Amino acid sequence: MSALSAAFFHDEAAAFAKLESLIWPEGPVCPHCGGMGRITNVKGGRMGLRRCGDCKKQFTVTVGTVFESSHVKLHLWLQAAHLLASSKKGFSAHQLHRTLGVTYKTAWFMFHRLREAMRDGALAPMGGLDGPAGGAGIVEADETFIGREPGKPKKRAYHHKMKVLSLVDRDTKQVRSVVVDDLKPDTVKPILAANIAKEASLFTDEAGHYVKLGKDFIEHQITSHGKGEYVRGIVHTNTVEGYFSVFKRGMKGVYQHCGKQHLHRYLAEFDFRYNNRAKLGVGDVARTERALYGIIGRRLTYRSANRPQAING
Ligand SMILES: [Zn+2]
Repeated sequence: MSALSAAFFHDEAAAFAKLESLIWPEGPVCPHCGGMGRITNVKGGRMGLRRCGDCKKQFTVTVGTVFESSHVKLHLWLQAAHLLASSKKGFSAHQLHRTLGVTYKTAWFMFHRLREAMRDGALAPMGGLDGPAGGAGIVEADETFIGREPGKPKKRAYHHKMKVLSLVDRDTKQVRSVVVDDLKPDTVKPILAANIAKEASLFTDEAGHYVKLGKDFIEHQITSHGKGEYVRGIVHTNTVEGYFSVFKRGMKGVYQHCGKQHLHRYLAEFDFRYNNRAKLGVGDVARTERALYGIIGRRLTYRSANRPQAING
């Protein structure tokens, strides 16, 4: 049976019922006052309309979110979420435009809202003492270079490319990626400090910015790629490099690169799929539900993020 054969991908009432079951597992909750006790259906109102007996206000499960204000039907949003969440290397807006029959501009907008929903708000330091393995954890850090930094002339090496710094926690198997303007220690230091526990072991290559910053952590192990050393026992950065290989194949093959102003959203998308991957027991259905939850559970509205400024990617 096709993954897209479920009724909620084709029928608006079923799509509402699906979202309600995700967001309100215990029954409807009024988004205005938090009331749960005296909620009634509004007969003849728009899809899914409820009334709260406590504050007398009306609402639906999508109130205040991009789903409510979008002219695209909810069941098509669910299809878009499924396609993006289940495609390992991403899914282009051109393809979505053809698949859903919406305009390219709408498809582009939908995917960027879904990327915002995929953004991980987790702030807990990686490699902390609370890792499932117990004791201090291991965090791999590495950078990759992609596309073209705006305004920088093409030179040798990576000077003119956009820079991405990623951290992978070996215990939780989660990745966290950021776009950085450069790799100077002053730039990298606050990122490592904010995202990695001091008790963690940091594993990196021999790049200069890490050599200086490794002292901030209880242990810093380096593999010297310049000398042909990639693995020394458990010391390596192969996990984060594996993440980069999927990210780069997607950015080159599916998205054909993007502008720097959008790169963080694509990273959110790749981080999200990696952090909710099948190997961690998260299937396509659950991954899609988590993405949808990001929009409604966090009330992602039109105004809560930058509107697209250019058609790109
Ligand atoms: Zn209420």
